[in-house]
Amino acid sequence: MSSYDYDLFVIGGGSGGVRGARVAASLGKKVAIAEEYRYGGTCVIRGCVPKKLFVYASQFHEHFEDAAGFGWTVGESSFDWKKLVAAKDAEIARLEGLYKKGLVGANAEILETRAELVDAHTVRLMKTGQMVTAKTIMIATGGRPNPHVALPGHELCISSNEAFHLEELPKSIVIAGGGYIAVEFANIFHGLGVDTTLIYRGAEILSRFDEDLRRGLHEAMVAKGIRILCHDTLQQVSKGEDGLVLETLNSGTLRADVVMLALGRDPNTEGLGLEAAGVAVDERGAIIVDDYSRTNVENIYALGDVTNRVQLTPVAIHEAMCFIETEYKNNPTRPDYELIPTAVFSQPEIGTVGLSEEEAGKRYGELEVYRAQFRPLKATLSGRPERMIMKLIVDAASRKVVGAHILGHDAGEMAQLLGITLKAGCTKDDFDRTMALHPTAAEELVTMYAPSYRIRDGQRV
Ligand code: NDP
Repeated sequence: MSSYDYDLFVIGGGSGGVRGARVAASLGKKVAIAEEYRYGGTCVIRGCVPKKLFVYASQFHEHFEDAAGFGWTVGESSFDWKKLVAAKDAEIARLEGLYKKGLVGANAEILETRAELVDAHTVRLMKTGQMVTAKTIMIATGGRPNPHVALPGHELCISSNEAFHLEELPKSIVIAGGGYIAVEFANIFHGLGVDTTLIYRGAEILSRFDEDLRRGLHEAMVAKGIRILCHDTLQQVSKGEDGLVLETLNSGTLRADVVMLALGRDPNTEGLGLEAAGVAVDERGAIIVDDYSRTNVENIYALGDVTNRVQLTPVAIHEAMCFIETEYKNNPTRPDYELIPTAVFSQPEIGTVGLSEEEAGKRYGELEVYRAQFRPLKATLSGRPERMIMKLIVDAASRKVVGAHILGHDAGEMAQLLGITLKAGCTKDDFDRTMALHPTAAEELVTMYAPSYRIRDGQRV
């Protein structure tokens, strides 16, 4: 009989925490999980899921326009922001219910309270002040938008959190940042009819992606009417007579109804009692963990965004499953971060897995790059001036495909499947002997027979 109240206490009811709690409980462990806000965490409540619903909403005006090329006459259309927000909220509430149901079904105890560490085995439930003890503690408190306090007027700006619940759809918005969130929301707001400007400090948006896709997406966004200001930053935001006034480094004064900051996310570790428990954090406040998600304190694990490894939902879930193997199945398992497929739900979409051309050029002596740029079939009748880009990066010595990059419709769906082929170590020859599926865009991936160019010692030849 354990001397602790619980075998496992999980702090944080997001993707990673809920998975860890649910599976541990289903193995017969006595588990409690505490969440101060809503079960589902960033992904379900104010991240991936509502974002994707907004992406769908923002695509309709192009669908209506495209319909004409296929013989349809679409009547006058209008958009109701409040209706979208309400429908999204209802779906999110349903999903939150499912998360809780899964926990209850596995016999985990759900606690709707903030929880803070008192020592390595003790947690205080902040709603009641009650102290409980656990043999093992998992911290999965996630992250929050970087508020960019160095920016004068930052308190007048919103983050993605508020973007999901704006009272009114603004007429104009300036979004600062060039990462996933900035790019996705710029497309969402533009698609919903908002005059949209993106301001990014670097030379090109999406700094960690393949250069071709970054340029291709930038051009496509500008062609749609999104203003993109690179090599620029916000210097100050203040209230004007009619909306907000923004001073920029290089583009003079801008005006907008709403300013959204999407400048990365910070780990949620403040006031968690980490010091009291002796848990070490890095200079950004993220919890330091070993290869098995264990902190410097033997019985305390941390996973997901609070550890600042790879900030993606499936990664947090994977880390939770590895924790279960390690802690409860006597099978020490390290999370595998190789070849994580990822998508940016921009318009057009980006789907990618493996190394960009630039990264691969640093790792391999010689690369073959297969690149196709074409007009998708649907665009022929719709008349939309869009182009798809597909790119395979192949290590010339082993013939292995080490990177696959797509810009265009359903790029995310394709990247998920390409992830399997790259994970399986498929070579370009495997791609070549795969029958094409016609007519699809994806068939291009198996019909690029000759390299477009080679990279030798990092140089294009
Ligand atoms: P990202 O890390 O993707 O982007 C942050 C952006 O902010 C970068 O463009 C960065 O510039 C810029 N930046 C950071 N600090 C400053 C500063 N002080 N001044 C000016 N610019 C700055 O973070 P996001 O906030 O967009 O998203 C957080 C994470 O959430 C992502 O990394 C991703 O892992 C995850 N996410 C995933 C999604 C998906 O899978 N589709 C969707 C949304 C989020 P620079 O590039 O120059 O460093």
